[in-house]
Amino acid sequence: ASHLKIEDLHVAIDGKEILKGVNLEIKGGEIHAVMGPNGTGKSTLASALMGHPTYEVTSGSVTLDGEDVLEMEVNERAQAGMFLAMQYPSEISGVTNSDFLRSAINSRREEGDEISLMKFIRQLDAQMGLLEMPGEMAHRYLNEGFSGGEKKRNEILQMTMLKPAIAILDEIDSGLDIDALKVVAKGVNEMRSPEFGCLIITHYQRLLNYIEPDFIHIMMGGKIVMSGGKELAHRLEAEGYDWVKKELGIEE
Ligand code: ADP
Ligand code: MG
Ligand code: MG
Repeated sequence: ASHLKIEDLHVAIDGKEILKGVNLEIKGGEIHAVMGPNGTGKSTLASALMGHPTYEVTSGSVTLDGEDVLEMEVNERAQAGMFLAMQYPSEISGVTNSDFLRSAINSRREEGDEISLMKFIRQLDAQMGLLEMPGEMAHRYLNEGFSGGEKKRNEILQMTMLKPAIAILDEIDSGLDIDALKVVAKGVNEMRSPEFGCLIITHYQRLLNYIEPDFIHIMMGGKIVMSGGKELAHRLEAEGYDWVKKELGIEE
């Protein structure tokens, strides 16, 4: 199973509170989308869940299948099955995409049970084919010189290869043209299973035309202020966020 439970999560950066009590539960088989204006803490939530040191959890709890995530080191979170596709993926010179992926896969496996090179290459070829990525991208340094769209596609490649229990995709759709968007959606939809839960952070309804979310959450001012079905995304696209503020009596 894959069951992420976030309860009353408060996160600060340099002593300034950014997340002010986030509650969210993601179960295997579910796809959740978090939408919200810029600067409301969506990326902060993603980074805090993965254990980025800049983000200080001041209170609240996060569990994955009952295990305390906040007690885990960054690499332990990945080993436990958490995955983040970053809004701005970093470039790592000197490490090829293929080497990076193979060591990431092996770090999630027991010693002596490493994936064989043959099997790895077969899976990599298949996934890169699915994501319509040219084979030579496997041998380039991680994200180095990749276009914005290539980086996003590469994040999805990592996800499909690593098969995480919970994937957090932070603005995976930003800067993608419609064809790349469809490819990214295909990668996510392929993952759908009871063993996989997904949190999609996005500004736009567009991606959700191709990935059908089970739940939409609106984040404002460091909290999830409203949750609903996919109709919420359509309303946001059409009307923006003002009606949410009005409905909830949020002043600005
Ligand atoms: P979103 O992803 O919703 O656009 P972020 O989580 O990136 O919002 O940012 C939330 C707030 O935290 C913003 O006010 C932003 O300026 C601040 N913030 C985020 N990361 C940092 C950081 N590393 N250092 C200082 N402030 C930050
Ligand atoms: Mg943003
Ligand atoms: Mg962000």
